[in-house]
Amino acid sequence: MTTDDCIIIGGGPAGLTAAIYLARYHLRVRLFDCGSSRAAMIPCTRNHAGYPDGIAGKELLARMLAQAEKYGVHREGNRVERLRLDVDALALETADGAYRARAVLLATGVVNHRPRHLLPEVHDPALERGLLRYCPVCDGFEVTDKKVGVIGTGEHGTREALFLRSYTRDVTLVAPEAEHALDPACAAKLDEAGIARVNGPCGDYAIEGDRLAFDTARGRMAFDSVYPALGSRIRSRLAIEAGAKATDTGCLEVDDHQRTSIPGLFAAGDVVKGLDQISHAMGEAGVAATTIRNMLDEQRPLRR
Ligand SMILES: Cc1cc2nc3c(=O)[nH]c(=O)nc-3n(C[C@H](O)[C@H](O)[C@H](O)COP(=O)(O)OP(=O)(O)OC[C@H]3O[C@@H](n4cnc5c(N)ncnc54)[C@H](O)[C@@H]3O)c2cc1C
Repeated sequence: MTTDDCIIIGGGPAGLTAAIYLARYHLRVRLFDCGSSRAAMIPCTRNHAGYPDGIAGKELLARMLAQAEKYGVHREGNRVERLRLDVDALALETADGAYRARAVLLATGVVNHRPRHLLPEVHDPALERGLLRYCPVCDGFEVTDKKVGVIGTGEHGTREALFLRSYTRDVTLVAPEAEHALDPACAAKLDEAGIARVNGPCGDYAIEGDRLAFDTARGRMAFDSVYPALGSRIRSRLAIEAGAKATDTGCLEVDDHQRTSIPGLFAAGDVVKGLDQISHAMGEAGVAATTIRNMLDEQRPLRR
């Protein structure tokens, strides 16, 4: 079995940026991606620098993949099932075979929890029309002075509602299931900011005109935009099972050079603790790729 210089797991903004860098360092790179980048859900990103009129997430990914392919990277549409530290390399398994690499970059991202009872046939068109949003940092600007609902509770829901309050006066925090679970400190902050609170359960979602409507304990409510604040699943299982250190929530811990606690295993993007943004994912990937290049060069000088 040949040993690749580097295997990248994940073909979102982090994985594709690393692929471009590593291929341009003349390294032998393999890229596995099972095709569920969060960036593909973005109807139009307007905070990513360099695109004054915004760009659709799928278009950005297609451009990045084309750039990586130009330097010889081939995206393999397989899911990596297992990762472990072998004697002198890292070993990976997909449904189709086994692979080895001197370095591995994990760029597997996260998956947002969706509101229960929000069916794909409502979810997807609502997302496309900006009636449903997942990232206030990304697109809070777009809801300036609009009527906004935040589905969530506790500290996380409170933080998200307060963040959105800097864009609009009209923010309502709706408990996803039944009654809000808010400690007095959260309740006081919400009151001070004039954020309304409504109990759940939320259900029977539908697009009604230009709004997303759903049932609450206070009857049917409709919003210009709704932000679920329900947390996410961090796709770090492969690394954690291989023994990598992670935070309580499952984000991988890395040093300033994106090195995990496992020798030769690097991580970048949303799967690492930090700002879940395209620019951040790309920056971390550039650092990881260059550290990988330098590590390989130290092990065996890279020469043409
Ligand atoms: C609705 C929405 C709007 C957003 N808007 C913006 C915005 O405007 N600006 C902005 O900066 N950010 C935005 N974001 C956040 C942005 O999408 C993420 O920060 C970014 O995609 C993170 O890149 P990543 O490469 O770390 O992960 P991802 O893009 O999620 O890519 C991870 C990839 O890894 C693959 N993968 C996972 N596990 C495996 C495995 N075992 N084997 C093989 N492949 C695997 C997945 O299929 C996926 O393709 C938005 C997110 C959402 C959901």
